[in-house]
Amino acid sequence: MGDAPDKPFRLRPRVTAANEHFWRGGREGELRFLRCGPCGCWIHPPSPRCPACLSKDVAPAAVSGLGTVYSFTLNHQPWVPSPDHPYVIALVALDEQDGLRLMTNVVNCPAESVSIGLRVRVVFENHDDDVWFPLFEPVS
Ligand SMILES: [Zn+2]
Repeated sequence: MGDAPDKPFRLRPRVTAANEHFWRGGREGELRFLRCGPCGCWIHPPSPRCPACLSKDVAPAAVSGLGTVYSFTLNHQPWVPSPDHPYVIALVALDEQDGLRLMTNVVNCPAESVSIGLRVRVVFENHDDDVWFPLFEPVS
């Protein structure tokens, strides 16, 4: 079964055992990253070792899904077939930890309304019940 025609084209990630928690957490409405057991550090992109304390005791855990637009750009170039241009490519800083940032899109608002410091929360865009892309929308 294909995607609904109103969903934008997205390059599919290769889902592996190492990143499945991230790409499929949206099935349960959760944005998940690896987290270190001993020191609590959030780890992104996934790594088998904690970069802070080198522990191998890391496991997926859910963040709140709340964050702030750290930087962004308006994409006017139709690189891929998509109904909505321009769209916002943003680096979102998650509340849980300094430096925990996600390259994503800000959606469900006029592109011109996005600014640095805008408060956002995660929403998921499901494709084929296989991958849930974490996107962000303004907190109203
Ligand atoms: Zn650690």
